[in-house]
Amino acid sequence: MNTKLQIIQGAGQIGGNIILIEGEESRLLFDFGIPLTELDGNPTDLKLNDEKVEKYLPDISDLYKSKQEKQTLIFLSHAHPDHFGLLRYVDKSIPVYTMKITKDLMEKCSKILYDNLFNELNLVELDETVETPDFSVKGFCVDHSVAGACAFRITDKKTGKVILYSGDIRVHGRNSDKTELFVKENHKPDYLILEGTTLSREETKLKTEQDIEDEMTEIFSEDKMSIVCCSPLNIDRIVSVYNACKRADKTFVIDPYTALMLETFRGSDLPYYRSENIKVYCARNTHSNRVFENPKNKKFGLNKIAFKDIMETPEQYVIKDNFRVSSLIGKSMNIEDINLVYSYWEGYLEDEKYHWHKYLNQLKKVHTSGHIAKSDLIKLVNGLNPEKVIPIHTLANNKFKEFFGEKVLELNKDKFVEIS
Ligand SMILES: [Zn+2]
Ligand SMILES: [Zn+2]
Repeated sequence: MNTKLQIIQGAGQIGGNIILIEGEESRLLFDFGIPLTELDGNPTDLKLNDEKVEKYLPDISDLYKSKQEKQTLIFLSHAHPDHFGLLRYVDKSIPVYTMKITKDLMEKCSKILYDNLFNELNLVELDETVETPDFSVKGFCVDHSVAGACAFRITDKKTGKVILYSGDIRVHGRNSDKTELFVKENHKPDYLILEGTTLSREETKLKTEQDIEDEMTEIFSEDKMSIVCCSPLNIDRIVSVYNACKRADKTFVIDPYTALMLETFRGSDLPYYRSENIKVYCARNTHSNRVFENPKNKKFGLNKIAFKDIMETPEQYVIKDNFRVSSLIGKSMNIEDINLVYSYWEGYLEDEKYHWHKYLNQLKKVHTSGHIAKSDLIKLVNGLNPEKVIPIHTLANNKFKEFFGEKVLELNKDKFVEIS
């Protein structure tokens, strides 16, 4: 049989990517996520532990049984639920290849954030080319808003044809050189499966992570406390906050969960729990309790700061938001005396139950997307020069056609391509 390439989910919607590449003797799946939007663009708003997610499981019955009809391998591009959210349903013997950081994140976050839902995955570190009888697969680190993100190159051994899958990608973060290297090493693929999240939005250019750091430096330099709402998994953002603290001569107060994430990403140029200008506030909340269940993490307490010490000179501190510390501060201080810095996607603020929703008018929004800007996407396609571009993770296939014309190949769960 010819190799079959199919976008099972994630075409014409944001997230929920599931790509199938099937050969005679082996079968590869790339990502296995829960969509963020339906095909009509409306948000799905589902939690990982909600049983309703089962309706997104692809109809490949042997994935959920203890034996598969042919060798099956899954590749995970990065640790965002719209890429891994359905993995807990697949048979535990199927290997899930991913970068070391993503593997570590999945293992730690499963315990702390995801109620142990993903403890049983058969995660395998992807450190060299993986071979099956039909394919060879190589991972390339790329720039995205979570540490450890990668893109893939799949070579079909029978035809020599090359398929690239971008995963979620950008070039305006702190790892743009990695995306550039991916482009340099993969000239002229036959197929490029490419995300286009930002194409349905207005902006053509996006702020860089350096712009975020500069904006934060200005805010933190004011003579008042700042609370920052951001994701500890977004290592670029944590670095921006930390650098801005140093430039504004403030101390960054992190929680044990953030300390653990920094420990996971630990590299020579990254901050960690004992870095200068960092203190750990050991809030008693579910996340902290789960972090401290592991005796190895008790060390985070070596650099702790007490709430009363923060309150003595609040203007000295930038606090990483968590519900516990924010509510304590809310009781002890006038909220107008605090800079509330919101550094996530704005869409989350629409939820009235979200505790930042009530401060909507006071929030200073400092954020940039994890996804490639329109102008960079065009440059990336020109740089790679693929035969065909297959849109994924986008609500704007029309923009792909506008930019890349004949090169665009629209696939979805009913329309696949045979590689010959
Ligand atoms: Zn995504
Ligand atoms: Zn992502």
